[in-house]
Amino acid sequence: MITLEKVRQRAESDAKSHGYYLNPDPKFLQNLLEGLEENEERYGYPSCPCRLASGKLEFDRDIICPCDYRDPDVEEYGYCYCTLYVRKDVFEGKTPIQPIPERRPLEKQARAYEVSGKTSKKPFERNGTFMEKPSKTKLKMWYCKQCGYVCFREEPPYICPICKAKRELFAEIRVCTDIRG
Ligand code: SF4
Repeated sequence: MITLEKVRQRAESDAKSHGYYLNPDPKFLQNLLEGLEENEERYGYPSCPCRLASGKLEFDRDIICPCDYRDPDVEEYGYCYCTLYVRKDVFEGKTPIQPIPERRPLEKQARAYEVSGKTSKKPFERNGTFMEKPSKTKLKMWYCKQCGYVCFREEPPYICPICKAKRELFAEIRVCTDIRG
């Protein structure tokens, strides 16, 4: 059985072996680790806490943490997309953390939305990231109070993929009518 402690140890060990550090903000780090733990319980593998997983291993391989995009992102920006893994200068606060572009190809994002069955319609792309179209399922509309990012999910994301705000900074937008276009 996976535990938060195991997830933490695995991340620490992986960071050490690659010369990386884990996010220096303890609360933020805890949030990311809890997201990984929950995803591993749900899917059987620790998919990225900032991205939508399809739930099918063959489609999610590239976003199993540490994902295929971590190393190029750390090299180019100093941290991975979720900012779980950071470079030394970032860990020491010498380089600020800002949103970075999603390196995962759009086709893979689109497939995750379709395979996950979270939407009955094709997703649409905005600013290099795939968004879900509203459907008649029990999905809710969430918005990030920090940057305004909007998504349709059963739950808000652990981490905002745009500004990295924590789940607590998401609020539900309540709609009373059928919102399908
Ligand atoms: S972006 Fe970071 S936290 Fe997300 S899967 Fe990649 S390495 Fe893990």
